[in-house]
Amino acid sequence: LVSRLTPFTSTIFAEMTALATRTGAVNLGQGFPDTDGPADMLEAAQRAIAEGVNQYPPGPGRQELREAVATQRARYGVTFDPDTEVLVTVGATEAIAATLLALVEPGDEVILLEPYYDSYAASVALAGATRRVVPLVDGERFSVDLDAVKAAVTPKTRAILVNSPHNPTGTVFTHDELAGIAAICVEHDLIAITDEVYEAMTYDGVAHTPLCTFPGMAERTVTISSAGKMFNCTGWKIGWVCAQAPLVSAVRAAKQFLTFVGGAPFQPAVAYALDNEAAWVSRLREDLAAKRDRLSAGLAAAGFGVRPSAGTYFVCADVRPLGFADGAELCWALPERIGVAAVPVQVFTDNPDRWRHIVRFAFCKKDEVIDEAVERLHKLS
Ligand code: PMP
Ligand code: GLN
Repeated sequence: LVSRLTPFTSTIFAEMTALATRTGAVNLGQGFPDTDGPADMLEAAQRAIAEGVNQYPPGPGRQELREAVATQRARYGVTFDPDTEVLVTVGATEAIAATLLALVEPGDEVILLEPYYDSYAASVALAGATRRVVPLVDGERFSVDLDAVKAAVTPKTRAILVNSPHNPTGTVFTHDELAGIAAICVEHDLIAITDEVYEAMTYDGVAHTPLCTFPGMAERTVTISSAGKMFNCTGWKIGWVCAQAPLVSAVRAAKQFLTFVGGAPFQPAVAYALDNEAAWVSRLREDLAAKRDRLSAGLAAAGFGVRPSAGTYFVCADVRPLGFADGAELCWALPERIGVAAVPVQVFTDNPDRWRHIVRFAFCKKDEVIDEAVERLHKLS
């Protein structure tokens, strides 16, 4: 294995899910829903297969999906031309990798906010670039230290990767945080790569605001999202990139030699869902907000120091009130000890000491699954 990939031989999600399966633990580690997406979307995929949508789709993605994505983005007040400014990818994961490969030179620096979703560091490394990591601040909520972001910019900085709603913390960046990041991008001529896969998962009336809507950002933002979270279909791996035409052309150049295309029959099904299932997504958001409350209350009752979660599938908790010092040690022991799987946040960081006390629990699960996990977690105190 080449040296730039040696730190990335396995993922915490694969390892923790394997351990959960082996021990029969309730899996609140890997974030995936345990119910299906809208019935008509599932049927649309089956129909597409039956009707022969089984060969390579067009390179940029099927027309109806690119149009549906552009229409969905227009709800945020941004317009993208479906023909030149939308590219369908194999999930957000491929979109992120292709964007970095297309826009970042070896030796360039990319700013990541820590904790960061695991694929970011690996994709930056694949591109031969270096990550500069800026920790979020663990306070009232996990917040962005704009001065620290500014201080991380060097003459080699090419891009910043911004994920809001944020995995693993569940924080949703405020208007001021996003405006501050935008101003830094404009001042230093940086590209912003946004990971908005949890765009539909914001709670308590908080709205998702795409970074590309801030002044000066349209021409420098690569907006990435995907269907997995929005429609409970994480295994379909249908994602997309939206950006101005020169950026999308660049990303397409990289994407075409990673996978070329993917997911032919799922593309019309996701297009259908984007066009017709907004009410289903609203209900999903309400259900998830209730699940967040359910799990947060349960964790608090079990003795964890629960952090607020304003979005995503996740709630973070401090393990110190229970007498534990190290979240990773705890997470590796939990499945055997009480039959629950969670994920230590330190594995998503370059500064494990700073994050040692925080573990992440997923609440995108049936109520009875959450309740069972909480009941087992009570055995810790
Ligand atoms: N970004 C974040 C923040 C995620 O949590 C995930 C996991 N679903 C992804 C990207 C990957 O998305 P996809 O499955 O569409 O590749
Ligand atoms: N995005 C999911 C999570 O953060 C898992 C994705 C994966 O397994 N790679 O839990």
